[in-house]
Amino acid sequence: MADKIQTLVMSLQQTQRQQSEQLHFTRQLIDSLPLPVFVADSQGRCLDVNKAWEHHLGGPAHQWVGQPIHALGIPMAAQAGRTESREVRWSLEDHRTQDWTYIQAPFTTANGTAAGTIGTLIDITERKRAQETLQAEKERAQVTLASIGDGVITTDMHGRIETINEAAQLMTGYQATQAIGRLLDEVFRFFEEPMSLTTPSGFGRELRSSTLHQAAQQVLIHRSGEHYAIEYTAAPIQDGEGTTAGCVLVFRDVTETRELREKLSWHARHDALTGLHNRVALAERLTHAVFTARQNNSLLGVCMLDLDHFQRINDQHGVRTGDRLLREVALRLSAFATASDAVARMGGDEFVLLLGNQPDTQAIAARALQVLSQLAQPYAIDHQTLHATASIGIAVFPQDDVAPDTLLRHADQAMCHAKRTGRNQIHLFDVQQDHEVQTLHTQQTRVAQALHDAEFRLYYQPKINLRTGEILGMEALLRWQHPELGLLGPQHVFPLIDDTELTVKVGEWVLEQALRQMRQWTAAGQCWAVSVNIAAWHFHRPNFVERLKAILQTCPEVPPSQLELEILESAALEDVAYMRSMMQSCQALGVRFALDDFGTGFSSLSYLKRLPAETIKIDQSFIRGIVDDHDDLTLVNAIIALAAALQRKVIAEGVETQAHSDILLQLGCELAQGYGIARPMPAEQVPEWARSYHHQASAPKAVF
Ligand code: C2E
Ligand code: MG
Ligand code: MG
Repeated sequence: MADKIQTLVMSLQQTQRQQSEQLHFTRQLIDSLPLPVFVADSQGRCLDVNKAWEHHLGGPAHQWVGQPIHALGIPMAAQAGRTESREVRWSLEDHRTQDWTYIQAPFTTANGTAAGTIGTLIDITERKRAQETLQAEKERAQVTLASIGDGVITTDMHGRIETINEAAQLMTGYQATQAIGRLLDEVFRFFEEPMSLTTPSGFGRELRSSTLHQAAQQVLIHRSGEHYAIEYTAAPIQDGEGTTAGCVLVFRDVTETRELREKLSWHARHDALTGLHNRVALAERLTHAVFTARQNNSLLGVCMLDLDHFQRINDQHGVRTGDRLLREVALRLSAFATASDAVARMGGDEFVLLLGNQPDTQAIAARALQVLSQLAQPYAIDHQTLHATASIGIAVFPQDDVAPDTLLRHADQAMCHAKRTGRNQIHLFDVQQDHEVQTLHTQQTRVAQALHDAEFRLYYQPKINLRTGEILGMEALLRWQHPELGLLGPQHVFPLIDDTELTVKVGEWVLEQALRQMRQWTAAGQCWAVSVNIAAWHFHRPNFVERLKAILQTCPEVPPSQLELEILESAALEDVAYMRSMMQSCQALGVRFALDDFGTGFSSLSYLKRLPAETIKIDQSFIRGIVDDHDDLTLVNAIIALAAALQRKVIAEGVETQAHSDILLQLGCELAQGYGIARPMPAEQVPEWARSYHHQASAPKAVF
C-alpha cells in the first residue's frame, strides 16, 4: 500500500514537473517571439503579455494584466472563433506615429469553451510610409498633369487608355470617363496618317514597339471634327523587368506656338489669389463644356456669381481680410464642384461656376441654391466671424443656344437682375424676353435714326363742314418714308417708342413741322387750322407747356389758336385733375384741344365736364356703324347730344360715304373728316386738293 502511494506521489510529482516544464517552455516560446503578444480573456482584458510587448509598448507585464484591449484603440474580435486583423496608428510622445497590424486569434479551454484571444502586433510603419509617399507622389503627378498645358495620355500594354489629363481632354474632345478604357487610336486620331503607318490602329502598335516616337507636325482631329496642329512625343512605359507595360503620349497644340508658350505657364491660366482658373482657362473650359453638353444631350448651367456688398467688407475690415474671404469662397466653390463642373474667378468678387451634365433647368437651379446657402454660412477669418451672401445669374445651354462668350454675358445680365431685385438669390436668364428686348431695342434705334436722317413726313387730312363745304383745317398725321419698306403709317413708329424719350422727340418734331407748314399756308393766304396728335406720355412731361411755348415762338406768324392738340379720350381720363390743369395752361397760350377717338374711353358726363377740350372727335368705329348698326347710331346720337349740352364742338372721323354724311347731318353733326372727303396727303398736294374741293363743293354732294 505504502508502495502504491509512493508510486502515485512520484507520478504526480513527475506530471507536475512535466507541466511546469511545459509552462516554462511555453513562456520561453512566447517571450522569444520577436512580435509583441497580448493574451486576453473573453472580455478582452489582458491575461498576459510577452517580453516583446513589454519592450515595444513599455511597462512590465503586471501593469498590463487586467487592462482592456480597447484601451489601446483595438476593438475586440467581432466574431468569436475567427481570426481578425486590423490596422492601428499610435502617436508617440515625440510626435512620431507608429502603424501596426493587430492580428487576434481565439483560443479555447481543453474542453473547447472559448477562453479569449491571443493577439500579435506587426509593425507596418515602414510599409505605410512607403504607401503614403507613393500616394502623395501619384497625387502630385496628377495635379502636375492637370495643370500643364501639354496633353498627356497613358495606355496599358494593349493600347487602352489608362489616364488622360485635362489638356488632352480639351484637345481630343473626350472626357476622362469617355476615354479611359478605349483604344488610343480611337481618341487620338490624325487627319493624315503618319507616313510610317498604314492603318490607324497601327499607331498604337508602333508606340508599343518603339523606344521613342516623335513627330513634329501632325493634324489631330478633335471629336467635334475640328483640326489641331500638334507635335507629340510617345514613349513606352517599362516595368522593373524591362517589359513594356504601356505607353505615355505627350502632345501639344502648336497652332499658335507663341500663344501656347504663354498658356503653359501656370500663372497665365490661374488666378494667383485663389488658385482657381482664370478667365483664359475658363474660356477653354466653357467651350469644352458646351461641346460636351451637346454630345451628351445634357444641360449646362453657366452661373455668374458675385458677392453682395463685398466692398463693405473691404472697407470695414481691410483688403487683407477681403482677400481671405475671397480665398474661403474659392475653397467652398471648389469643394462644391463635381467632376463635371468647373470653377473660375473672373476677378474682383466675381466667380463663374459651370454646372455640367445637368438633366434639366430645375436641377441647375437647385444646385445654384445649394451653393448660395453654402456661401451664406459664416466665415471664420482672423478671429472674427464674417457673413457674406452672393447673387447668381444663370444662363442655361442649349436652351440659350449662343456662343460661349454670349452665354457668359447672359449669365452676367441675369446676375445684375438678381442684384437689382434684392441680392442673395439666383436669377435665370430669360431667352425669350431677351429676344424681345433686343428686337425692341434695335427697332427703337432704327426709329431714332429715321428721325435723325429726316425719313419722317407729315401727311395732312382735311376736316370740313359737311353743310357749308368750308375747309376748317387739317389733321397732321405722321408717315415714315422708309428707304426699303416704302411709306409706313404711324403704327410702325409709336408702338415701338411708347413711353420713351423718343416719343417726345418725335412729337416735338411733328409740332415744329406742323407749325412751319401752317406758316407757309398762312403766308399763301390759307389760314387752315392744324390738329396735331399728342401722345399721352409726351403730354405728361412736366415741361410740356414750357416746350410748347418755345416751339410756338419759333413760328410767331402763326396764331396759336390755329393749333389744335388731339389727346386720346382714354389718356385724358387717367388723371382728370392733372389733365385739366395742363390743358388750361396750354389754352392760356391760345392753343385748343380735341378729345380724340371719343366714345372708346367710356367717359362719364361729370368727367367730360371737367375736361376743357373745345372739340369732341367721335371715334371712326362708331361712324362706320351708323348706317346699319342701331347701337352705333344711338351712341353717336348720344355723343352729339352730350357735346351740345356741354357746348362743345363735335366732329366725326372716318366719314367714308354719302350715307355717313347724310345721317351725321340729320343728327346735327356738321364737322367731318374721312376718306370720303379726302385721304391724308403730303402738304404740297393740299392746295391743289382744296382748289378742286371748292370747285366740286359748289355742286352739292359731289364730294362723295
Ligand atoms: P387718329 O388721330 O384717330 O387719326 C385718324 C386715323 O384714321 C388716321 O390714321 C387716318 O388716316 C385714318 N382715317 C381717316 N379717315 C379715315 C376713313 O375714312 N376711314 C378709315 N378707315 N381710316 C381713316 P393714321 O394716319 O394711320 O393714324 C393712326 C393713328 O396714329 C392716329 O389716329 C393717331 O392716334 C396716331 N398718330 C398719327 N400721327 C400721329 C402723330 O404725329 N403723333 C401721335 N402722337 N400720334 C399720331
Ligand atoms: Mg387724331
Ligand atoms: Mg381718331
